[in-house]
Amino acid sequence: MNNKIKDLLSKLTLEEKAGLCSGKDFWHTKPVERLGIPSVMVSDGPSGLRTQVENGVNENDSRASVSFPSGCATASSFDRGLLYHLGQILGEEANNYNVSTVLGPAINIKRSPLCGRNFEYLSEDPYVSGELGAAYINGVQSKNVGTSVKHFAANNQETNRFSVSEEVDERTLREIYLTGFETCVKKAAPTTIMCSYNAINGELSSQNKWLLKDLLRDEWGYKGMVMSDWGAVFDRVKGIKADLSLEMPYSGGQTDNDIVQAVKSGQLTMEDLDEAVSHVLEMVFNYTEHKQSGLYDREKDHIESGLIAQESCVLLKNDKVDGSPLLPIKANAGKVLFVGEFAENPRCNGGGSSKIKCYKMTGAVAAAREAGIQIEYIKDFSEQALAAASNADTVVVFAGLPESFESEGEDRKTLDMPAEQNEFIEKLAAVNKRVVVLLHNGSPVAMPWIDKVAAILECYLGGENVGTAQINLLFGKVNPCGKLAETFPLRLEDTPCYNYFPGNGRKSYYSEGIFVGYRWYDARKIPVLFPFGYGLSYTSFEYSDLRVSSKAFKDTDGLEVSVNVKNTGAVAGKEIVQLYVSDKTGVEVRPEKELKGFEKVDLKAGESKTVSFKLDKRSFAFWNTEINDWYAPSGSYEIKIGASSCDIRLSCEVDLSSTTKKAFTIIPQTTIGDMLKIREMQPVIQPEFEKECAFIDESTDEEFAKLYPFTKDVMREMIKNNPFRLSRGKNGLTMEDILAKIDRYNKALED
Ligand code: BGC
Repeated sequence: MNNKIKDLLSKLTLEEKAGLCSGKDFWHTKPVERLGIPSVMVSDGPSGLRTQVENGVNENDSRASVSFPSGCATASSFDRGLLYHLGQILGEEANNYNVSTVLGPAINIKRSPLCGRNFEYLSEDPYVSGELGAAYINGVQSKNVGTSVKHFAANNQETNRFSVSEEVDERTLREIYLTGFETCVKKAAPTTIMCSYNAINGELSSQNKWLLKDLLRDEWGYKGMVMSDWGAVFDRVKGIKADLSLEMPYSGGQTDNDIVQAVKSGQLTMEDLDEAVSHVLEMVFNYTEHKQSGLYDREKDHIESGLIAQESCVLLKNDKVDGSPLLPIKANAGKVLFVGEFAENPRCNGGGSSKIKCYKMTGAVAAAREAGIQIEYIKDFSEQALAAASNADTVVVFAGLPESFESEGEDRKTLDMPAEQNEFIEKLAAVNKRVVVLLHNGSPVAMPWIDKVAAILECYLGGENVGTAQINLLFGKVNPCGKLAETFPLRLEDTPCYNYFPGNGRKSYYSEGIFVGYRWYDARKIPVLFPFGYGLSYTSFEYSDLRVSSKAFKDTDGLEVSVNVKNTGAVAGKEIVQLYVSDKTGVEVRPEKELKGFEKVDLKAGESKTVSFKLDKRSFAFWNTEINDWYAPSGSYEIKIGASSCDIRLSCEVDLSSTTKKAFTIIPQTTIGDMLKIREMQPVIQPEFEKECAFIDESTDEEFAKLYPFTKDVMREMIKNNPFRLSRGKNGLTMEDILAKIDRYNKALED
C-alpha cells in the first residue's frame, strides 16, 4: 500500500469507505470528491467495447464500436501474439472512452458444449485458456487499461447461474477449472478479477474465503482487486472478509450500510475494510494517474478485426472434387453462388453482456464486391436458391446458429442447428457436388450432412469484418491456419458431463472429474466429429527430428524440447504445433495425455523451422491431494508432438526424477506396494519387502505349491498389498511398534 493510499485511508470516514466498496451506478465506481478520489468507468468486454451512453445496459444504449472475433474464434488462432495485439487495440479504444477496465477476458473452461456462454470462453483446455488469456491481459494492460479476468471460478453453465453450487473435488478444480486463472495471475497480473455468480461446493464465489483469499491472494500472490459479477453479492460483510473489494453494480446503499453496521458492531474490523478500500483505490489511481492517450482509428480497427478473424477460422473439411481440393476456389472456377443471409449480415458476436453494437459490418457479399470477385447471392434458403445451385460451379452456404440458440443467461438444449438449415444443406448437396459450408456459431454443432458436402470452414462468431476474412480464405488469398481449441463431439450423449449437466438446479456434480474435453474422449476411445487441436491448411507440414535437452532430468530442472517442421506444400502457411505430455509412471489416475505447449509457426513453401518448447515441473505434475501440492512422480513420461490431439507425429520417452521424497503420509493402511511405486520411497521399504518375501525363495516351486494355495508370483503381489496394520502380532509386533515404525519412515522421507 503506498503512502497516498495510507493517507487517504486515514482521512476517509467509515461511510465513505463502505461506499467505495460498491458501484455508483451500473458502470462506475463512486468518487469522494472532497479527497480528490475520482470515479472510473468499467466496460464489457471481452471482444469489443460495450460502453454505454449514460447508464444504460442495452445494445441500443451502447456506443457503436468495432466488434472483434469472440473468444471461441480467437482461441482457435492458438496465437499468443495475436491475442496480445487484440488486447492492445482494445486498450487503445478503452482509453479513448475513458474506460479504466475492460471486463474480460472470459476464460472459463468449456465443460459442456451446451454452455450458453461458450462462445465467449476460450477452450476446454486450461493450458490454452491460461496462455491466451494472459496474452490478452498483457496486451490490454500495456496501454495502462485494466482487465477483469472472469468468471472466477467454475462458471460453466448458465442454468441457475446465480445460485447453482458447482460440486467439484479439489484436484479437478486445480487441474482443470483454476489453472487458467492461475496462469493469468502469474503471467499477466490482471488488475482485477471478477468473481462468478455460482457457488463452489456450497459457498458463493462472492464470499468464498478459500477461493478469494487463501488461494488467490495468499497462495498465488495476487496483488490486484476482486470485483463481483453484476449482482453476485449476497452477504456483503462476509464478502469483505473473503477479499471481495468491489461490489458491482450499485447496491442502492443497502450493502454499504451493512458494512458500516458490521464495523460498528465489531463484526468486521477496520483493517479488513481498509484492505478492501485500498484495492479499490489502487485500481482507480492506477488508471487515472497513468492514463495514456486514446487515439485510435476505427477504420484501421475494422481491418484489424478482419485480420484477426482470418487467423482464427478453422478449415474442417476440404475434399477433392474432380481431382483437386475444392478450396481455395480458383479465379477461373466459373459461377460461384452464395446462399444464406449470414453472407450479407453474418452473426458475428454473441448475445448478452458481450454484445457489441458494430461500428460497421462487412459480410462476405460486400467483401467479394470490394475485392472485385463476381458472385451470385441469394439470401433465402429457397427453391430459387436450389435452382441457382444446380447451375452454379461452386455453392457456398452461409449457415450456423441463430442468437436464440446460444446466449448468456441460458444453456443450449441441443447440438443441432435449426432443422431447416440442415435440410437445406442436404438439398443443396443433392444438386451440386461442390458445396462449401461456412459456419457461424459460438460452440460445436452436429453436422448430419458432413459426408455430403465437400468443404467446411468454421468461422465461429468472427467479428464485424468476418466477411473479408471469408473471402480471403475462400479464394486463397490467405491460407487457413486456425485449429479447434475444443472437441466437436459426434453426439451429445458422448460428451463428458452428459449425465450431470446442468445438474438438478441446486447442485451440479462434476462427476467426470478431470476428464474434460479431449481428456475424456481419449480415455474412453470415443470417436469424435473433429478432435481438439484439429484444422486443415492449403499446404502440408512434415515433422521431424524430435530432440530433448536430456533423456533423464530432475523435475526442478525442467526439459527443453525441439522439433523441425517443414512446409512441404506449394503455398505459404502456418502450422500450430502441439506438445502433449503423457504420464507413464502409473502412480495416479491421469489423462492419456495433456497439452503442455503449443507454437504457431509461419512457413513459406519448402521452408523448415525449428520449434522449441520449455517444460517445467508443472508440465508433468498433477494435484496431489495427499500432500496438497503439485507433484510429478519419478518415472517415465512420453513427450508427444502432434498436429492435433488425434494426430501425433513424433514421440519419445524421458525419465523424470522427483525432488519430492514423500508422495503421501504413511499410515497403518499404507501398503508396501503403494510405497514401492514411488521411487523416493523405495529405499525405505525395499529392505522390508525383501525380508517379507524371504520365505518364498526358501522352497522350490513344488514345495511351495504344497504349502500354499498360491504361486510364488501371486504371493509376492499379495505381500505388496499388505497394509502395515496387518503385521500386528507378527514377530511379536504390537500396534505401538508399528506406529513407531511408520513414524520413523515418515521422518526419513521428510525433505
Ligand atoms: C456478466 C459479466 C458482465 C457483467 C456486466 C454479467 O451479467 O456475467 O460477464 O461483465 O454482466 O455486463
